[in-house]
Amino acid sequence: SPKFTIDGLKANVEGKEILKGLNLEIKGGEVHAIMGPNGTGKSTLASALMGHPKYEVTEGAVTLDGEDVLDMAVDERARAGLFLAMQYPSEITGVTNADFLRSAINARRGEGNEISLIKFIRQMEAKMKELEMNPEFMHRYLNEGFSGGEKKRNEILQMLLLEPKIVILDEIDSGLDIDALRIVAEGVNAMRNEDRGFLIITHYQRLLNYIKPDFVHVMMQGRIVKSGGPELAERLEAEGYDWVKEELGIVD
Ligand code: ADP
Ligand code: MG
Ligand code: MG
Repeated sequence: SPKFTIDGLKANVEGKEILKGLNLEIKGGEVHAIMGPNGTGKSTLASALMGHPKYEVTEGAVTLDGEDVLDMAVDERARAGLFLAMQYPSEITGVTNADFLRSAINARRGEGNEISLIKFIRQMEAKMKELEMNPEFMHRYLNEGFSGGEKKRNEILQMLLLEPKIVILDEIDSGLDIDALRIVAEGVNAMRNEDRGFLIITHYQRLLNYIKPDFVHVMMQGRIVKSGGPELAERLEAEGYDWVKEELGIVD
C-alpha cells in the first residue's frame, strides 16, 4: 500500500512565496480533500507536486514510498505513480488522445512491458463506455476544442487507464453539470482501493457528496490550518470560511 508524504513544503511562484510550509500524509485506501478560499494556493500545491517549472520549491520534502519526488523529473513522477488532473488541462495539437494515452500507459508500465495495441484499444473502449464518452474522442487531438466537461472526463479516462498510486484532482468538478459530475465521481469511486490514495482539491463541498472523503483539510494562506472528517466540509458549506479564520486568528 503506497504512502505519500508532504513535509514542510514551501514554494514560490514568480518570486512570491505561495506555499508556506504544508504538511500532509496520504496512505493507500485514503481519500483526502483539501478545501479553501480562492487564491489560497491549492492549485499551486498541485502544480508544485507535479513539478511544473513555474513553481519553485524552496523548502520541504515530498516522498512516495520513501522515494524523493522533488528530485524526479515530471515524467518520472508519472512513472512512479503520481497522477494529476489539472484545473485547466492543456490542449496538445498534433497528438491524438489515443496516441497520448498509449504512450503514457507505456511510460508507466516501463520498457519491455508495453501494452499491445489490441489490448490498449479494448481497455480504452471499455473505459470510455463507462464514462459515457463518444468513441470519436479517441482520434481527436488532445483536449483541442473539448468542452470543459469533456476535458474533465478525458482526465478521468487517463486516470482509469494509468492506474496511479496517488491521484491528485484539482477542481475536477468545476464546469461540470450534475450528470457529468456523477459520471466522473463514479469513475473515481471505482478506483478506490488499498493500493491507491486520493487528494481531492475543491472549492465547493458539492463534489464531496459524490466522492466521500475520509479526511478534510482546510487550506489558507499556503498552509493546512485545520483538519477533520466529512463534517468539516459540511460546516464550511453551511458557514463559509470566516469562522475558521476567527478560530485561528487569521487576518487577510
Ligand atoms: P487556488 O487554487 O487556491 O485558488 P492558486 O494556487 O491558483 O490558488 O493561486 C495562489 C496564488 O498564487 C494567487 O495569488 C495566484 O495569483 C498566484 N499564482 C498561482 N499560479 C500563478 C502563476 N502561474 N503565475 C502567477 N501567479 C500565480
Ligand atoms: Mg482558484
Ligand atoms: Mg485552483
